[in-house]
Amino acid sequence: MQSIGLIGGMSWESTSHYYTKLNRAIGAAKGGLHSAPLWLHSVDFAPIEVLQREGKWEEAGKQLATAAAALERAGAQGIALCTNTMHKIAPMISEAISVPFLHIAHATARALLDENVREILLLGTRFTMQEAFYKEVLIEQGIRVHIPQETAEIDRIIFEELCKGKVCEPSKAYYVRVIQEHLNAHPATQGVVLGCTEIGMLLEAKDAKIPLFDTTEIHVNALKEFILA
Ligand code: GLU
Repeated sequence: MQSIGLIGGMSWESTSHYYTKLNRAIGAAKGGLHSAPLWLHSVDFAPIEVLQREGKWEEAGKQLATAAAALERAGAQGIALCTNTMHKIAPMISEAISVPFLHIAHATARALLDENVREILLLGTRFTMQEAFYKEVLIEQGIRVHIPQETAEIDRIIFEELCKGKVCEPSKAYYVRVIQEHLNAHPATQGVVLGCTEIGMLLEAKDAKIPLFDTTEIHVNALKEFILA
């Protein structure tokens, strides 16, 4: 098996799902006592979140690129970042390593195209929804990307609740309503990309009339394939 280095902690709640799901997937594929050979560098999210809020992406990128290089030195044969938002600095990580960087949005685009889904609603942090760095990966693959009209409450729920492990019914109802209102206005939309690694804690398939594409699940699946390749 190939080993991987995970950069997590953003938030650790979702990283714990990566760790569990990836080990289960390798166990299911290989049987017996097999589990995923990996290194995990889990950051303290508080200072990273301040850098995000203050727009100091370069500084955050330097820290994560240093972590990626250390994981490669430790022996990791591929590197993954367990968050969508911090892929804003993905080029800094790719430059710092000589092993493959397993990009979450590339895996998501592949998963959408595999299902022939070409028009989606993207839910995530305000950075992921509003800025180009994530959407452009999907758009380059011919996928039409919508974001909700109102993004502030979607973003607030991620940082104030989900990243702290709080799963609240009114927040779930809010997300369900946003999806339904979007579908009423854009009935051609074929799927919803849960473009934040914590949203899978809040929503499940039966909450929407169209398929949900959970980026944590998709990324874990891509990492599993890399490990087994
Ligand atoms: N884990 C989240 C994501 O997938 C949000 C936390 C962050 O801002 O890094 O985007």
